[in-house]
Amino acid sequence: MANLHSQLLLLLILVVSLFLASTQPSLAHSRKLILQSPKKVADSHHFGSLNDVRLYLERFGYKEKPLDNDLTKDTLTTESSLYAAISLYQQTNHLNVTGKLDSETVARMMTPRCGMPDVFPSGGKGGSRYSKLLHVVGRYKAFDNMIPWTKVNITYTFATTIPLVSLEALRKSCQGAFQHWAAVTPFHFLEAGKGEHGDLTIGFYSGDHGDGSPFDGPGHVWAHAFAPQDGRVHFDGSEQWSTTTPTSEEIDLESVALHEIGHALGLNHSIDQNAVMYAYIGQGVVKRELQQDDIDGIKSIYPPK
Ligand SMILES: [Zn+2]
Ligand SMILES: [Zn+2]
Repeated sequence: MANLHSQLLLLLILVVSLFLASTQPSLAHSRKLILQSPKKVADSHHFGSLNDVRLYLERFGYKEKPLDNDLTKDTLTTESSLYAAISLYQQTNHLNVTGKLDSETVARMMTPRCGMPDVFPSGGKGGSRYSKLLHVVGRYKAFDNMIPWTKVNITYTFATTIPLVSLEALRKSCQGAFQHWAAVTPFHFLEAGKGEHGDLTIGFYSGDHGDGSPFDGPGHVWAHAFAPQDGRVHFDGSEQWSTTTPTSEEIDLESVALHEIGHALGLNHSIDQNAVMYAYIGQGVVKRELQQDDIDGIKSIYPPK
């Protein structure tokens, strides 16, 4: 068992290292590695450290970032020092809460996901900053400290495309997603006229694209969007997107658009695994319909009149 546990730990470290290498320009091999069997991954000699696990937990909101960048602290990261963060990750993701990097936890961390964090600190200090989540009533969650949209007509602009996804295909996928949100909110979503700047700007970007949230190349993180009234909705241009029916290697653009528009309207990640606003979505998965949790969430921000 101990041997299996250490293998799983090494596997997690590898996956997280690849994920966290987002500042490195070339990650063209990462998708291939992730899709290989654990044995092959372990054989590929890309080992990181527990510090990379810590960075993963920090990046997605399960652990507070240290106040300074004292790199000497990196060597002090141990599995037990991550106990609270791993426990919170497990609780949020409906896993057995062991506080350890067991196989279930490793598998979930390997699943591709949205780039937005799962938990937003909402004031206070120390451990109490995260205690709010443990007492959450609904599964959905709205962003803290945002300014919800007050206008009814929300416009959008397509900023960039990639060769594999034409403007027409991007428009069609987004129109499908907008229709679902329009059905449960007061909003009308309209494409801005030529030369106009929409309330939402939608496009594909790669690597570091100037918003402080660099994309990581193929795999891991598909997209991100900012809370109202920022309006930026970004897809990772390095991914294999599908605008029809995704293969097991492709990501469904409309499903991800539906999720990211939810962020742009003010919803944070839900802990309901069926919800569109759940953070993880794998290749080949289609989630083009809002679930009750998503509808309850958006109506908590924009109550029906
Ligand atoms: Zn998200
Ligand atoms: Zn971005």
